[in-house]
Amino acid sequence: MNTQRDGRLAGKVALITGGSSGIGRACALRYAQEGADIVIADRDTARGFEAVAEVRSSSNCRALFVEMDVAEEASIEAMVAEAVKTFGQIDTVVAAAGISSASYVSGAPAADDVPAKARHLINMPVSNWQRVLDVNLTGVMLTDRVVARHMIEQNIHGTIVNVASSAARLALPGAADYCVSKAGVAMLTQVLAMELLAHCIRVNAIGPGFIETPMTEAMRERPESHAAMIERTPMGRLGTPMEMANTALYLACDESSYTTGHTLYPNGGMFVG
Ligand code: NAP
Repeated sequence: MNTQRDGRLAGKVALITGGSSGIGRACALRYAQEGADIVIADRDTARGFEAVAEVRSSSNCRALFVEMDVAEEASIEAMVAEAVKTFGQIDTVVAAAGISSASYVSGAPAADDVPAKARHLINMPVSNWQRVLDVNLTGVMLTDRVVARHMIEQNIHGTIVNVASSAARLALPGAADYCVSKAGVAMLTQVLAMELLAHCIRVNAIGPGFIETPMTEAMRERPESHAAMIERTPMGRLGTPMEMANTALYLACDESSYTTGHTLYPNGGMFVG
């Protein structure tokens, strides 16, 4: 049983894809601080178990790691079944698993090392485009619907928080696959929110700006791309994974009970200044 009962997610079970790294991992730690038991679903087993150990050592909550691939519906179904077998139910989800390009591996330099023009749509291999859409958009859709079916079956009035990006609203040359996938997540969030209204399941998203995670590591290491990220951000700094987790937490808990279909953009004022 969950022994921590005074948090904003006390007694809830949270499932977090991409939960072993970056924003997903911060969500796992933050949600556990608020009393949720945590299911970390991700690809990398060693990092997944490490994240589970961190959740357990920093809270009274239970944590489970399940290795999976969000691009495979059968893998998501097996992961949800294991989570339900272990904890009985899933009350809230963060769909954070994502890639910045087809060849991206957390923390490793990838597409940024390729000249921007080679990444333009007219030169982009369809297989690269497809891979990014498969993970970032179809992966979120599959995660959401497998979990929503479970919530409906068990009559759980749950919450879903998708991780889009501020790139959903920025036309970034060389990143069409990523921008389109994230714009898709924002619209997916709206449609699904309407479809799940009758089941009292709320669906929202966050659209981070530039955040200090393995995904931006290679860019942060290059002075000119680091300066470009700062230049685009009125607050003059990158965001932290915990700032994203706090935004997701608001959308996951009852404090946002009148909000659905919305994408919040924690991006240091990027769309204002
Ligand atoms: P990250 O540290 O690389 O975390 C992403 C996690 O997703 C990694 O653990 C990764 O595993 C996992 N993942 C990737 N493909 C997967 C798949 N097919 N199945 C299961 N897990 C998979 O990056 P992050 O910055 O925290 O990114 C989290 C989300 O935030 C992403 O959706 C990203 O697009 C979004 N976002 C990030 C930023 C930013 O500035 N960092 C800004 C806007 C939006 P591997 O390590 O095995 O690849």
